[in-house]
Amino acid sequence: MADVPPLPTTLTLEIVTPDRALVTEHVDEVQVPAAEGYLGILPGHTPLLASLQVGELTYRAGGRTSHLHVAFGFVEVLPDRVTVLAQTAERAEDIDVQRAEAARARASERVTGRGADIDVERARVALLKSLVRLQVAARARTRA
Ligand code: ATP
Repeated sequence: MADVPPLPTTLTLEIVTPDRALVTEHVDEVQVPAAEGYLGILPGHTPLLASLQVGELTYRAGGRTSHLHVAFGFVEVLPDRVTVLAQTAERAEDIDVQRAEAARARASERVTGRGADIDVERARVALLKSLVRLQVAARARTRA
């Protein structure tokens, strides 16, 4: 009988945006906001490719849990590797809360606005991004 290779025990997580590489780390578990909902990934996961939504990406390495805001792009899962290609991404501790708060106020005014030249869908996406950024930033402060 052919030898079955052992299942990997960790994952290499890479998170990149068009501007920069944000994370290259060995991790135990990753949770990503995929198009069909949040996807939990452990070492040995079945290979898959999924599109990313706006949401919170969480990963655990040892006893430490990290949170990022990510928006759009793709995630590729292999048994020993997770690669996230995000349109935008920020670590919780790098989020500018005042900026996100200003974006939230602007976007919520547009979402409820009645102006003919308002792109409501674009405003909804901006609102969602700002809300997720505020939520993720709050985790950095509470270390949740
Ligand atoms: P804003 O209206 O404040 O520009 P946005 O949602 O339009 O926000 P994006 O187009 O998603 O911004 O991102 C543009 C760049 O700014 C990206 O590099 C992104 O990581 C960064 N960025 C956006 N908002 C914040 C924030 N609150 N804190 C830190 N970086 C941010």
